[in-house]
Amino acid sequence: MKKQPVSVKEQDSAIRAKSFEEVVLGFSEENALEEASRCIQCKEPKCISGCPVGINIKGFIKKITEKDYDGAYFTIREKNNFPSICGRVCPAEYQCRRVCVFTKKGEPFASKEAINIHFLERFVGDHGAKKSLQVKADNDAKLSKMKVAVVGSGPAGLCCAGELARRGIKVVIFEGLHKTGGVLRYGIPPFRLPRNILDSEINSLKKLGVEINTNYIVGKAKTIDELFKEGYSAIFLGLGAGIPSFMGIPGENLCNIYSANEFLTRVNLMSAEKFPEYHTPVTIGKHIVVIGGGNTAMDAARVAIRLQNMNGIKPDTTIVYRRTEVEMPARRLEIEHAKEEGVKFDLLVKPEEFVGDEKGFVKKMRASRCKLGEPDASGRRRPEVIPNSSFEVDCDEAVVAIGLGANKILTSVTPELTTDKYGDVTVNPETMATSIKGVFAGGDIVGGEGTVIEAMGMAKRASVAIVDYLLKL
Ligand SMILES: Cc1cc2nc3c(=O)[nH]c(=O)nc-3n(C[C@H](O)[C@H](O)[C@H](O)COP(=O)(O)OP(=O)(O)OC[C@H]3O[C@@H](n4cnc5c(N)ncnc54)[C@H](O)[C@@H]3O)c2cc1C
Ligand code: SF4
Repeated sequence: MKKQPVSVKEQDSAIRAKSFEEVVLGFSEENALEEASRCIQCKEPKCISGCPVGINIKGFIKKITEKDYDGAYFTIREKNNFPSICGRVCPAEYQCRRVCVFTKKGEPFASKEAINIHFLERFVGDHGAKKSLQVKADNDAKLSKMKVAVVGSGPAGLCCAGELARRGIKVVIFEGLHKTGGVLRYGIPPFRLPRNILDSEINSLKKLGVEINTNYIVGKAKTIDELFKEGYSAIFLGLGAGIPSFMGIPGENLCNIYSANEFLTRVNLMSAEKFPEYHTPVTIGKHIVVIGGGNTAMDAARVAIRLQNMNGIKPDTTIVYRRTEVEMPARRLEIEHAKEEGVKFDLLVKPEEFVGDEKGFVKKMRASRCKLGEPDASGRRRPEVIPNSSFEVDCDEAVVAIGLGANKILTSVTPELTTDKYGDVTVNPETMATSIKGVFAGGDIVGGEGTVIEAMGMAKRASVAIVDYLLKL
């Protein structure tokens, strides 16, 4: 009889909705062995091609079944510098698990029966971190004399830095914020990605010799030209997509309406949930509306409901989305978790206007109901407003999480760097080379918002091209 998938241990939803402690507790050794034993070791494993960095999934799962966890760790590390992070945040149901042989053909996301590759990866990554397993750097006479600057310490910058450091190259990361990690730290909350895990993955880069300068905005403190003059032979740009989009509807500038970026940054990076112990405040409304259907919206809503619970406010946080749950781009697990924690979902709804009180604070949201029409350019069915369906809801705080655009601090002062109409850096997709010789780019600043592993995939391609470039100098 076919074995059932092993479910992962999670904190009880009533408890976790009041805390920022990690929700998913992960696989025990016994769980990992049982789940790994379900993998049928396909002759032509699709899971590997479904992974944006091509991890030898079949290979590392086999090593788990042999209880060779060190071997499993080094198998993953051949392709992925950050298994503990990816094992926690990768949208595996749209990637490796979706093409696992156990997912039925044509499904929009992985079936429950697909091997839980991400939880196995997390188990192995955490094993490696616990044992401080470390990959060694090469000792290439030419490369070890080279110095490369990496701008941005999100997954793209960190991954590129790691790949180059492994080749023995001296790497210096410049990060504009006071802390490293990019969205991994200021966007994704600790109940999904605990900070000790992030720190331990970043520390393993430092052990490889990577130097990190925080509070350093390239484009303001120094230009690209100046970095070259200082002796950097190549530069990688992992600038991310840090600029929030808005809906452009009346009332969107009222007080207590945040972009998800601001809301999450205040809490994740500036400990606003501990105000007044920490200096940054954040509003905790009685009726919070979060607009959007992606990971950012789920994170904002789950942070909001925690803040309500922790402050003794009867939880009332609602996600408002124009389409249905099937079209939501968020990870399926996060959607389930949000619901379990008490977040309400009002679907097929389009916000039309925010209404404020006499002091300029939001008090209501006016919206219309929608139905799904024909598919649009994204392939998803387009939401169409139903005439005369307008309604109002109480809303004393709103968080807009409808997308992010290019961060232009550096590109705006570097006219030789070619960008597209969205402000994203234009690259050769094979080498990630930009219009400036010796400058490469990857992650969300190329092609817009993506995923952690996609950002890492681009960074890896760039690192290969950077090494080629350096060897030819
Ligand atoms: C709230 C949220 C939740 C998400 N959840 C998931 C998830 O669960 N799974 C998933 O796969 N993806 C998720 N994503 C998407 C994913 O986080 C991004 O695709 C990924 O972080 C992009 O990596 P990056 O390195 O390109 O950019 P970023 O992570 O944005 O990092 C860019 C870094 O560059 C710095 N920087 C920018 N300009 C400069 C400059 N001029 N000088 C110095 N430093 C600079 C920024 O401060 C930032 O730290 C989420 C995104 C958000 C916003
Ligand atoms: S496709 Fe699924 S079953 Fe086949 S090797 Fe990959 S994880 Fe194992």
